[in-house]
Amino acid sequence: MCATHIEEGCLCKRCLQRLPRTEQAYQRQNVTEMAVLGLPSDMVRAGKVMHVDKAAAFLFYEKDHPIQQLIHRMKYADRPELGYQLGRQAALEFQYADFFDEIDLIIPMPLHPKRLRERGYNQSEYIARGISEVTGIPVDTTHVTRVRNTPKQALQTGEQRKTNVADAFAVQYPEQLYHKHILLVDDLITTGETMRACLKAMRQFRGATFTVFSLCKAQ
Ligand SMILES: [Zn+2]
Repeated sequence: MCATHIEEGCLCKRCLQRLPRTEQAYQRQNVTEMAVLGLPSDMVRAGKVMHVDKAAAFLFYEKDHPIQQLIHRMKYADRPELGYQLGRQAALEFQYADFFDEIDLIIPMPLHPKRLRERGYNQSEYIARGISEVTGIPVDTTHVTRVRNTPKQALQTGEQRKTNVADAFAVQYPEQLYHKHILLVDDLITTGETMRACLKAMRQFRGATFTVFSLCKAQ
């Protein structure tokens, strides 16, 4: 990948070709699904409890790989259009696996209003809007909100992480999303803890089904 294009936040064809793809759009019981739902032996049951149809990430996030710098720029260095471009690219590739079939709406993982003010944008919303442009599926940012500002996860142990994200999310007007198939979009899944907390809050959308998409999965 070209250093200047990562720096500028706009990737060329060559950069896009060299992204560390996971190919998970074609794999069930992949590592992203496992992070969200547990080991394969628990997965079917967990999927039923959480109403998760499938989960996949587009790219592998690796330290000391250009992807690390790319994601850092997208999140913290005011290059949100990178999220849009990568969301678009993921959707162009994932739609060949029928990944978005029957999905009614896209919900980006919300940021806490304070974090949103500091950063100026929600990177997951940019990814969601890129996916929306390709698939035509609308983006919804009104039904799920973040009500607790959790400290940055990188600095925490697994147990702290669990306590911090529990009850971090709230839903509004749940009856409007009963029985919908919702694509939940995040930028990076590590342990899957945040995603599970969000899915737990979204159980109030009775009868809804969820597909989880993350731009990246950390190893
Ligand atoms: Zn390039």
